[in-house]
Amino acid sequence: MHFSYTSAQQDMRKKVREFALTRVEPTSAERDELERFDRGIFDSLGELGWTGIPWPQAFGGGGADFLTYAMVIEELSRVCASTSVMLSVHTSLASWAIHTYGTDAQKQTFLLPMAGGHKLGAYCLTESESGSDAGAMRTTATKDGDFYVIDGSKLFVTNGGEAEVYIVFAVTNAMNKPRSCTAFIVEKGMEGLIFGTKEKKLGIRSSTTMELRFEGCRVPAENRLGPDGEGFRIAMRSLDGGRIGIAAQATGIGQGALDAVVAYGAGAGSLSGELFDAHISEMATHIEAARLLTYQAAWRKSQGLSYGKQAAIAKLFASDTAVKVCLRAVQLCGAWGCLKESKVERYLRDAKVTQIYEGTNEIQRIVISRLLLSESM
Ligand SMILES: Cc1cc2nc3c(=O)[nH]c(=O)nc-3n(C[C@H](O)[C@H](O)[C@H](O)COP(=O)(O)OP(=O)(O)OC[C@H]3O[C@@H](n4cnc5c(N)ncnc54)[C@H](O)[C@@H]3O)c2cc1C
Repeated sequence: MHFSYTSAQQDMRKKVREFALTRVEPTSAERDELERFDRGIFDSLGELGWTGIPWPQAFGGGGADFLTYAMVIEELSRVCASTSVMLSVHTSLASWAIHTYGTDAQKQTFLLPMAGGHKLGAYCLTESESGSDAGAMRTTATKDGDFYVIDGSKLFVTNGGEAEVYIVFAVTNAMNKPRSCTAFIVEKGMEGLIFGTKEKKLGIRSSTTMELRFEGCRVPAENRLGPDGEGFRIAMRSLDGGRIGIAAQATGIGQGALDAVVAYGAGAGSLSGELFDAHISEMATHIEAARLLTYQAAWRKSQGLSYGKQAAIAKLFASDTAVKVCLRAVQLCGAWGCLKESKVERYLRDAKVTQIYEGTNEIQRIVISRLLLSESM
């Protein structure tokens, strides 16, 4: 077992940290306040080659491993979790699905520009009656000659309205069996794809979250992703990997809150001594444990090993840790911790969301226990 980073990974972390501090951090508080999505940041990430980190170079990717990708998400989250979720949904949900299930033609048409940062991706699973219970979805796709006609709606779509490429799950064969849905690649501008209102949120406020409606949306049959009826599996497998991104995000948020407390403590006479030391060392210990769980899941994914259980464990632990660490950070900073300028109040709001999306932490416990029990049989 090696607990060391390659020089390429170290180099990447350094570059991303610098980019995060100079390009992302300066506007992070203002974007949060105004709930302003900044497409220019995605464009800059694309120019640097970071919008397709784990995909093969033949498809415009960086050819790096998932550990490197997790480190990038973590470093961005350390200053702005809205930026990291934009990249995480784009990479580990939308692009991953096309990379894994797409035809060569779909990879050329969609993955190539997505990896190059020319097209942004989104993932559309949640509906008003189907959040944790994704199998209860009602959006339908009806075959009509060389097209599928999609009707229904999706909620809480990250990158909604801004993205050019939407992975949409819809029931194609409801009479056959439960959870029988199919995945589609829907493009911005297709007739019948209607963008709803942008949600106003507690946290992750400068990422867009939007309802999408499909009213007779005609999608060419060649945009079907994977076989008919395989959508549920694609959706769940995408989330397995997506959770590594959210675990990395939560680790970065926790680290950012700790950074802020340490900086505050250095300047505040009242915040020193054994009690402060005890608090920050405990925070650091939990963050390091979250980091190791996250990296383990990312490493397993890169090695082609099973990673569903490790990803769920990492997501559960890292997101709970982020909330605990951020609460402690606010407390340690006292009244200042309640102010916008402290940064830690934003980190706390952002951390809370990591316990909810890509499967709530209650659902992670179910996923973990099912996998544990199946291993012991
Ligand atoms: C900022 C943000 C961005 C998002 N982005 C996306 C996106 O890009 N694409 C997308 O498809 N979705 C997205 N979501 C939706 C997100 O994945 C869902 O909110 C999440 O899966 C939970 O579903 P729900 O909100 O319907 O809650 P519900 O499923 O209604 O759950 C409500 C509560 O009941 C609990 N619960 C439900 N079932 C069980 C059970 N069986 N056992 C124990 N407890 C249970 C839950 O844990 C939760 O505490 C986003 C959400 C947010 C907040």
